[in-house]
Amino acid sequence: MLEDKNKERTSLSELGEFGLIDHLTEHFKITHKSTIKGVGDDAAILHFPDEEIVVTTDLLTEGVHFDLSYVPLKHLGYKAVMVNLSDVYAMNASASQITVSIAVSNRFPLEAIEELYAGIQTACVNYKLDLVGGDTTSSQTGLLISVTAIGHVQKNKAVQRSTAKEGDLLVVSGDVGAAYMGLQILEREKAVFKVNPQSQPDLEAYSYLIERQLKPEARKDVSSILQQLEVIPTSMIDVSDGLSSEVLHICKNSKVGCNVYEDKIPLDPQVISSCEEFKLDSTTIALSGGEDYELLFTISPEDFPKIKGNPNFSIIGHMTQESEGIHLITRANTKIELIARGWNALSKEKN
Ligand code: ADP
Ligand code: MG
Repeated sequence: MLEDKNKERTSLSELGEFGLIDHLTEHFKITHKSTIKGVGDDAAILHFPDEEIVVTTDLLTEGVHFDLSYVPLKHLGYKAVMVNLSDVYAMNASASQITVSIAVSNRFPLEAIEELYAGIQTACVNYKLDLVGGDTTSSQTGLLISVTAIGHVQKNKAVQRSTAKEGDLLVVSGDVGAAYMGLQILEREKAVFKVNPQSQPDLEAYSYLIERQLKPEARKDVSSILQQLEVIPTSMIDVSDGLSSEVLHICKNSKVGCNVYEDKIPLDPQVISSCEEFKLDSTTIALSGGEDYELLFTISPEDFPKIKGNPNFSIIGHMTQESEGIHLITRANTKIELIARGWNALSKEKN
């Protein structure tokens, strides 16, 4: 949170647009055969013989999607890539290339943009991605970053959100709600810091929550784990806006209903303890928090024995006839309608 007054500040205008692009992209290596031409021409050239291509993009805006008073730029670069990879993996595809577009105001020195690109580069190395292009422009106000991810998948192997069937089981990877609680912790610390800049917060008890907020990882591993288990999901979506919102997307698109069981929703112990501390209902947070970047998918009931007990996955419900509606079955065994509030609505409610 502290701004280091001794840090070097090189004005972006010293390099000019082309100098800046060269400087930022020179350390990125091309590793995929499918990249014929990366950065440096009017457009990149990619070649995927016999495969289908998936393309996805996300735009992150300062003040709306991130707050630079507690989000380090390196983490922002990393997360901007993860958000897109999560969408590629949710199609059951492999990610191989990205483009990165930025709009920067003159408040940012070169060193800040280098930090952002260091995070992007770490993501490219960890997830084996080629940076093949982008755009660079100025902004009147804050920072905007848009990443496009390109992936590939064998013909007819992409998994959509519209193909769940009545009787299918609903499965989620990992756990949910932690990223939202991480944000609550960071916002609380920001408020404390404003009052007392000398405060040294001890965030050890919240380390998992903060990591899930600041440095999420996209679930690259899920597709290969499922392959090993010989399970093909019948539908899939990633959990970006909140579990309930994603359940509703699958249901609406697949024309099915669903029962989600409250006691089956996977929660990390830090989510449970921090919800107690903040006097929040952990189920509400798990359902509406968002930014989990886990994968939510359905499987045929015959595949139940293959998934059962697998530590990567939780079976949280099953799909019903559309006319039965979409419900949460609570611990008290009452049935309440599942509604999508998303993180946006949740924050409005709180303020
Ligand atoms: P054009 O004028 O054709 O849009 P640019 O000068 O914007 O070309 O970009 C030159 C090359 O640098 C292109 O290959 C483009 O994709 C790439 N590029 C531009 N900005 C970025 C960026 N922020 N990150 C990565 N690559 C970039
Ligand atoms: Mg351009």
